[in-house]
Amino acid sequence: MDFRLTEEQEMIRSMSRKFANEVISPRAQETERSGEAPYDIIDKMADLGMMGIPYPEKYGGSGGDWVSQMLCVEEVSRGDVALGGMLDVTSIIAQELYEFGTEEQKKRWLIPIAQGKEIGAYGLTEPDAGSDAGATKTTAVLDGNEWVINGTKQFITNIGLKSSHIVTITARSGRRKDGKAIINTFIVPKGTPGFTVGKPWDKMAWHWLPSCELSFEDCHIPKDYILGQEGKGFAQHLAVLETGRIFVAAISVGLAQACLDASVSYAKERVQFGRPLYSFEGMSFKLADMAMNIELARLMYLKAAWLKDKKMPHTLEASYAKLFASEMAEKAASDAVQIHGGYGYMTEFPVSRYYKAAKLNQIVEGTSEVQRIVISRNL
Ligand SMILES: Cc1cc2nc3c(=O)[nH]c(=O)nc-3n(C[C@H](O)[C@H](O)[C@H](O)COP(=O)(O)OP(=O)(O)OC[C@H]3O[C@@H](n4cnc5c(N)ncnc54)[C@H](O)[C@@H]3O)c2cc1C
Repeated sequence: MDFRLTEEQEMIRSMSRKFANEVISPRAQETERSGEAPYDIIDKMADLGMMGIPYPEKYGGSGGDWVSQMLCVEEVSRGDVALGGMLDVTSIIAQELYEFGTEEQKKRWLIPIAQGKEIGAYGLTEPDAGSDAGATKTTAVLDGNEWVINGTKQFITNIGLKSSHIVTITARSGRRKDGKAIINTFIVPKGTPGFTVGKPWDKMAWHWLPSCELSFEDCHIPKDYILGQEGKGFAQHLAVLETGRIFVAAISVGLAQACLDASVSYAKERVQFGRPLYSFEGMSFKLADMAMNIELARLMYLKAAWLKDKKMPHTLEASYAKLFASEMAEKAASDAVQIHGGYGYMTEFPVSRYYKAAKLNQIVEGTSEVQRIVISRNL
């Protein structure tokens, strides 16, 4: 067993860390406050090849691996967790197109996404179908050479960005003989008549990264915009969520690392009772636990990504990593505010931003309860 990263993985991690320190972190507080998307940073991430690390160069990627992609997203999220979220969603669309798309779809949609020129969006959730994603009510009916889509998707991230051009959605297209719904996946470009992107929700965190309601009213798309095999679209759409779970684990580790870095510095500087906070066991033990749990979560997401690179099953490992890392990060953020005392509650201090952001990782890409369902079903 070899825990060392390859030269290329080390290089991607240090490039991402440098970029997060020099470019992302100094702007994160201000973009969160203003709600203005940092398009210049997103463009620079694309120039550095961050959007398509694991995809072949032929399809606009860097020809790297998933371990490198996850190391990159950890570092990016240490600077700004919303940039990590944007990267997660756009990368799972790239994966869906890469694994299930036709050659024509790959050329048309995957290449610009892997190059970072366009940002993808993933549409699964509906107002009445969240954790129970199979309860989708959106329909897609074949009419000659076109699919006609009707329905609503909820909380869809990325599509409100000006550089986002497509969303992949699930919709019912009939019933099987056993009465179960046939759910397919479709590519819907922004600007298609009948497809409306609603106003972004006002959220606790991720202020600049829009999450919107999408409406489809007699929205016609060409027949060949179906993604993947007819009748298998639902399973294929869910399959890429496994990768999303590794992403959320890596994002959580980045967030928790930012909590640890801020808290160690603060505890060493802040003096009470004539001594730095760090010299009190009540404070330094919290930091020791935080550091240990971060390392454990990091090993968990790296193992899941490594299994993915080896094309080995990783359903359990992705859920373990997502569940543990997201719950660990919420505790780390809470402890970081506690270590900062009253200052930690003030928006001027980044730990208040980390605290608000941490909760989301327990909800997206399958809630903590859904991860426990996945794990218990696989025992
Ligand atoms: C900021 C943000 C961005 C998002 N971006 C996207 C996106 O880009 N694309 C997308 O498709 N979706 C997106 N989502 C949706 C997200 O994936 C869902 O919110 C999530 O899957 C939970 O669904 P729900 O909100 O409907 O909650 P529900 O499914 O209604 O769950 C409510 C509570 O009940 C629990 N629960 C439900 N069923 C069970 C069960 N069987 N056993 C035990 N507990 C259960 C849940 O764990 C949860 O705690 C986003 C959500 C947010 C908040």
